[in-house]
Amino acid sequence: MTKIDILSVITKSEKETMAVAEKLAKTVGKGVVFTLLGDLGAGKTHFVKGFVKGLGSNELVTSPTFTLLNVYEKGRVPVYHFDMYRLENAAEGEELGFNEYFDLKSLDGIVFVEWPEKVEGMINCPHIEVKIEKIDDRRKITISSEIGGEK
Ligand code: ADP
Ligand code: MG
Repeated sequence: MTKIDILSVITKSEKETMAVAEKLAKTVGKGVVFTLLGDLGAGKTHFVKGFVKGLGSNELVTSPTFTLLNVYEKGRVPVYHFDMYRLENAAEGEELGFNEYFDLKSLDGIVFVEWPEKVEGMINCPHIEVKIEKIDDRRKITISSEIGGEK
């Protein structure tokens, strides 16, 4: 497996991060899974905020920290926004029926997963990784994908 960078960009504000996601949203259709990597406060939830806006929805996007899953259905494509932070492992996610969202054949929307590390092994479908790194007040956003192999 080889990791290929699709895009690497530095943003200087929350607004700029949202604008990157908003533009990305215009290019994507259903059946896509994104993982979001980055520390607490990196901007993962704001990335989803911009994305939902880019799909043409004015819904209020909030962190699914406690709900685990928030659904936004008013845009061009439904968005399933997970935060796995409070889960212990993939088995817990499976008990909650989250597996069905990682079957690209049946997926009828776009999935975002904050803290995918918590459910290692559950996201076994091909997906796009969005990594957000803090550099002082700025953020480095790297969007990448794995190619080769069956995954
Ligand atoms: P996460 O979901 O990764 O925990 P949030 O999106 O909830 O992060 O919060 C990101 C925080 O960082 C917000 O308070 C936001 O205003 C701030 N911030 C500062 N600079 C940026 C930037 N360039 N991109 C995104 N967020 C930023
Ligand atoms: Mg968050």
